[in-house]
Amino acid sequence: MSKNKTVGIDLGTTNSAVAYHDERSLHLVESTSGHVLMPSVVAVDKGGKFTVGHHALRKLKRDFDPEFVFSNIKKQIGMPAQEGEDYTTAYGPQIVAVNGERHFIGPNKQTYSPTELSAEILKSLKASADRKLKKPSSGVVITVPAAFDNNRILDTKEAGLMAGFKRVIIKTEPEMAALAFGLHKTPFTRFGVFDLGGGTFDIAHGTAAKGDINIEPPIGEELGGTDFDKAVWRYLAAAYQQDEGKDLDSQPIAKLKLMPTIEEAKRELTDLDNAFVRAQGIYIDYEGGGTRDLQYTITREKFDELTKHLVDKTIELTKRLLERDDKTPRDFDEILLVGGMTRVPAVRKAIEDFFGKARIRDDVNPDYAVVMGAAIAAAQEDDILPRTFNFSQSVAFSFGLEDEHGNFAVALPVGAAPGEIAELVVTTAQDGQASIPIGILQGDAGSKAKDCVRLTRYEHRVQPGPAEKPRISVEFMVDNSGQLTVTGRDQQTNQSFPIREP
Ligand code: AMP
Repeated sequence: MSKNKTVGIDLGTTNSAVAYHDERSLHLVESTSGHVLMPSVVAVDKGGKFTVGHHALRKLKRDFDPEFVFSNIKKQIGMPAQEGEDYTTAYGPQIVAVNGERHFIGPNKQTYSPTELSAEILKSLKASADRKLKKPSSGVVITVPAAFDNNRILDTKEAGLMAGFKRVIIKTEPEMAALAFGLHKTPFTRFGVFDLGGGTFDIAHGTAAKGDINIEPPIGEELGGTDFDKAVWRYLAAAYQQDEGKDLDSQPIAKLKLMPTIEEAKRELTDLDNAFVRAQGIYIDYEGGGTRDLQYTITREKFDELTKHLVDKTIELTKRLLERDDKTPRDFDEILLVGGMTRVPAVRKAIEDFFGKARIRDDVNPDYAVVMGAAIAAAQEDDILPRTFNFSQSVAFSFGLEDEHGNFAVALPVGAAPGEIAELVVTTAQDGQASIPIGILQGDAGSKAKDCVRLTRYEHRVQPGPAEKPRISVEFMVDNSGQLTVTGRDQQTNQSFPIREP
């Protein structure tokens, strides 16, 4: 019987995957439809029944029913929402604010939270893993972008619990990629993680030394493969308008039919000099009757020209990160390529040109790097693999307290090292006050408390007495996995008490 209790899941914007590492080797788990990568797509029918992954995507392609097929769920999870605002994206189901969260609208006006939709994806991956393990898994390592704030992490954790996992461990994508590339076994290296996926771009850098992996707060943006696909769509729609006099934008079915074909053509252009884009019945001709088709050939040169601004943007963001941390491209030994879009020749060339002498690592499949790392971390949790490393990602947000004026008093600033302890002192403002409110916040320095994320609200009881007599030290510390612990200490009695635990 396998010792595995914990599996690793990459919960991605476009695709997700599950893997585990047993005593012998790493296993990428295939779903019943035979794929390791499962589209992060959830469809819901009028009876409220969910369909996930390839089946949901096929539904979208076959039935052309975009309304109740939810994709890009990760972009919405844990994001703030204001009542009355509409968060619907250019294409797909409506997204509205419900209790400060963004919910998707399904059949019969029923709303679905990104957390419960993510739970459906995780449930499906768990079922595949459990089938392969021949027993139920109880724990999971789920990866999130390093830039996810606490709310987004908590909602992802909640989705894991809803999916039936008893123990949910959140790790960041660049950390897990570093594991997949084996950096925890390297004596010393200075590395970058260039992660260009379907929906997001993240650039991170750090050092690894004898099992200690240290990653600085990364920079990321919503920029990915779908933006490249859209650039091609715009070009083809303009050509169609010119050649056929028909406006494809006016018919939603055109986009639905063409986008998957464009995506396939993009993949082809990775290996070939030109690709054929063809879609039948793309335009319903209400005046002339019948439907019209589309056929174009697109060259790699044209594709590179149409998408150059996107590739340039990734390099611009990379430059920005290096400038922020006072680094130059020469300060790197290796660059880890993560995300399917790093296969695109123009992307790869831009990375090579920018980093010059650094070794470009493409020896791990870029689609699987994150899930492979998560599987290794999961096996370390189960003591199947030795825990040979410590992670330390410097603090990506500032942590502190709400002061009496409603301002954010920073204790641990961005970039603070894991294990570093910072202290703020709170006291009573009035004579006879019986308690001190302690509000723990996460946010940007200089913000008002109301604009920060409130992590904990704590009321500490004190012996009533003169104002400013009771003095409480509030100590902040972030551990190696980015989790915050806050402890209070009464300066009179020297007694400590927990305010927030990871
Ligand atoms: P990920 O989010 O890492 O799964 O990345 C998926 C993105 O990578 C999608 O936009 C894919 O179209 C793109 N992709 C995957 N393989 C290739 C390839 N061989 N050539 C070009 N793009 C690819």
